[in-house]
Amino acid sequence: MKNKAVFISSILVTIFCCQGLADITLCDNGRTSYKIVLSENADISTAAAAVDFAAILKEMTGAVFPVVYDFYPAAEANEIILGIDNKHIKDHNLIKADMSFGEYQIIISGNSIIIAGGPERGLINGIYGFCRDYLDCRWLTPGCQYIPSKPTVKLPEIRDCKKPAFRYRSADSIMQWDANWTVRNRLNESKAASCGERPSAVMLLHNDTRTATMANSWNPHAFQSIPEAVYKGNELWRAEIEGSRKYIGNPAQRAFCLSNKEFNKWVAQWTLRQLRQKPNMPFISITHTDIGISCDCKDCLKAYKKIGISGLNIQFANNVAKTVAVEFPDVSIITFAYNHTFAPPGIKAHPSVRAVWAPIGADYAYAINEGEVNIKDNYLGQLRQWCANTKQLGIWYYQYSHFAMLPRPCLFATQKSLQKFKELGVDQVFIEMFFNPCWKKTFNTDTDKNIIAYPCFSDYYTRQTDAGSMFIPYGLEHLRGYIYSELLWDTDISVNKSIEDFCRIYYGPSHREIFEYVMLTEDLASYEEKSDFRKYDGLHIAVGSAPIPNKSYLLKCSELFDAAMSKTKNDPVFRKRVELARISIDFAILLFVNDEPDLRKKASERFFRTLDEIEPAFNTVIPRNGDFNLEDIKNNFLKNGL
Ligand SMILES: [Zn+2]
Repeated sequence: MKNKAVFISSILVTIFCCQGLADITLCDNGRTSYKIVLSENADISTAAAAVDFAAILKEMTGAVFPVVYDFYPAAEANEIILGIDNKHIKDHNLIKADMSFGEYQIIISGNSIIIAGGPERGLINGIYGFCRDYLDCRWLTPGCQYIPSKPTVKLPEIRDCKKPAFRYRSADSIMQWDANWTVRNRLNESKAASCGERPSAVMLLHNDTRTATMANSWNPHAFQSIPEAVYKGNELWRAEIEGSRKYIGNPAQRAFCLSNKEFNKWVAQWTLRQLRQKPNMPFISITHTDIGISCDCKDCLKAYKKIGISGLNIQFANNVAKTVAVEFPDVSIITFAYNHTFAPPGIKAHPSVRAVWAPIGADYAYAINEGEVNIKDNYLGQLRQWCANTKQLGIWYYQYSHFAMLPRPCLFATQKSLQKFKELGVDQVFIEMFFNPCWKKTFNTDTDKNIIAYPCFSDYYTRQTDAGSMFIPYGLEHLRGYIYSELLWDTDISVNKSIEDFCRIYYGPSHREIFEYVMLTEDLASYEEKSDFRKYDGLHIAVGSAPIPNKSYLLKCSELFDAAMSKTKNDPVFRKRVELARISIDFAILLFVNDEPDLRKKASERFFRTLDEIEPAFNTVIPRNGDFNLEDIKNNFLKNGL
């Protein structure tokens, strides 16, 4: 009997010990004994992220988690230890020493939670990765930063190590100007202008110290910034077109003579001067303008024959890189693989040259390596050749649409493209998103509690005008921004699961209907088979375009939205979100369904009521100052969109 009791108690001790090892209590009924201990060497952005971490934990649990530096001796209290060099780490053997860019580890050892990160914001990624993966936080939109309420938090044993799919990750979702959204979703390029004026939205983003260590490479057409006097005063630097090096008034339409040695030297010195002003920039751009014209002088033509137009462009970038690398060996010189320079070059790039491959001619109904158009035009093969000729390669992936209000498939094709890019070793991806949505002229927004709106610029490329208006992410632009931020971190996530997460939190009681709407929108069978590519049948979507949705899809979506509106009728926030999502479908019904008068009448009433609320001003789809004429819009769509 006695022996049996000892046996039972030893089992209990064993169970107790195992539980003690496996589970720790971070917070118990709104009280915690944990402190956040930050390495004193932490940079300004990491320190700010640590404070944000405490704020997230406070909102989640109600408890205050003090943030202290590690030069205070380790107390008996429990600790969340931040930083690979933190003095409170007792056993450094637990942590992998050679973490790569952005990589992090989360380890629970004894009662301590250790979050350690590699170079370039690795620890920041770890902090927000911990919040996402172990505390179920989701940063869906600026107005919907989801932190679950959990007065008690127990954690299992954790040995976690993660790294981003790409070293540099950015998407210019309409939500990017919100620091919480951008930082917490672990994007690491701020995509503000490198030079020139700083409008208020850029300043707002940059004034958040969590963004201070982000890379910043925004200057998409650097040749547009060559000073007027330089362009005017050097005739021989201008491109020769049809026998003349004539002066072009519009900087966006200027081309240059890349074989001109003096021009090569001047651009190198110009680049150096800019870097001396901002020595911390990891990139600097010497990209050509958007005009797609190259110089036809004798010397340039000779070079094209030998190494191609893109080869001469790379040779030019190499010349600049050679000069710049002497003083700034770690800075990347950004050049384009775009438009007339898209074909793989005949020469290798200098190690400091970073080519940005921009497949603007691809079919975006499919991944870059799928679909008849992309396969026949050998996009994947061309990308492989670029990768073979460059040490650094970024990708400018297009997801903008001139018809952003209309439904279009994109999420699953984008995932497959990103998986391919990762497989090829591409280390930077930028996803270009919004174009010509409507905007709100006044700032009386409550972000997306009722009306979703974010700051924008009237001059998208230069960003030299102020953010005097607000974009409204109707349709699914906000969901796309969120899914892309997830995919840029991990190309292999379950997109279905991420859409589900979004719908559950953002659309509440109507999440099933909206999820189904998103999945139908992703299905190519929901559209008419009208190709944007002349030589091809079937459904193929050019950049900036949108397919024509078919009637059965629109009827099904209408039913789903009826159900979604009924389920959200008692909650004004969820209800408004559903109404804003619905305007895409109502708009498509007004454009494309002519034989359902009742459906059209209701769609029209809802559509215009919502539009009145969001003060629309559509560039392409709806004339900014003109009358709202659906027939004009439809003709415009049919003319420009297909
Ligand atoms: Zn030339």
